[in-house]
Order: sequence, then structure tokens, then C-alpha cells
Amino acid sequence: MPRVALIAHDDEKPVVVSLAREYESVLSTFDLVGTGTTGERITEETGLAVERKESGPIGGDTQIGAEVVEGDIDGIVFLRDPLTAQPHEPDITALLRLCDVHDVPMATTRTSAEYLLDGLADDAGHEG
Ligand code: PGA
Repeated sequence: MPRVALIAHDDEKPVVVSLAREYESVLSTFDLVGTGTTGERITEETGLAVERKESGPIGGDTQIGAEVVEGDIDGIVFLRDPLTAQPHEPDITALLRLCDVHDVPMATTRTSAEYLLDGLADDAGHEG
């Protein structure tokens, strides 16, 4: 089962919830992890179960980065707010870098997230 991380900045949380709703049947076959508030919103507003790390600004992105290093994450949907400076920018940059180092696909927009989820669902289908 693919393990997918979901992270969205505040401005993008309605988008990640809408994406999770649209992809609910696909995501229900994945193992989901998320930063604190993103995970909470998705859990509350869909029928999906999301393992919740800490909130992003207090280390959630770094916790997900550690899973990338361990080889436990198959893909990340990270909907970033490109217009607002984030207090935890160094952690965000570190997570992007770790995805590059370990060749873990990361989608940062809704459309690229749809391709990523479709691709992981397709791979999972071929495996199993
Ligand atoms: P949050 O963290 O889901 O706890 O809001 C997201 C982030 O800003 O990295």
C-alpha cells in the first residue's frame, strides 16, 4: 500500500480537502500521513483516516522528512502558499531537498497532485 504524505499551507487547505474528497476512493486504499492541521481537516471533512504528525511550523514537515530518509514515503502532496512567507521555510526547503535526494515524487499544485495520485494508484494496481 503506498504511503502518501499530505501537507497544505493555510491558504491551500480548502484545496487539499477538495482534492481528498475527489480522490477519496483512491486515497482510502493508501496509507496516509499528514501534518497536524492538514491531517485534522482531512480527517474531519472526509471519511479518510490520516496519521497526524505535529503541525508544520513546530516540526511536522521535518517528521515527514525523516520518513522520506527512512524510505517509508512513496509520494508527497505539498500544497504550498507561494505568496506568503512561512515561519518554517527552512524546514520546507529541507523537505524539498530530501525528496530530491531520495527521488520521492512531490506535487506542489492540485493538478500535479492529481497526476501523482493517479500514478501511485496505477503502480499499486500493477503490483497487486
Ligand atoms: P499544518 O502544517 O498542516 O499543521 O498547518 C502545514 C505546514 O505549514 O507545513
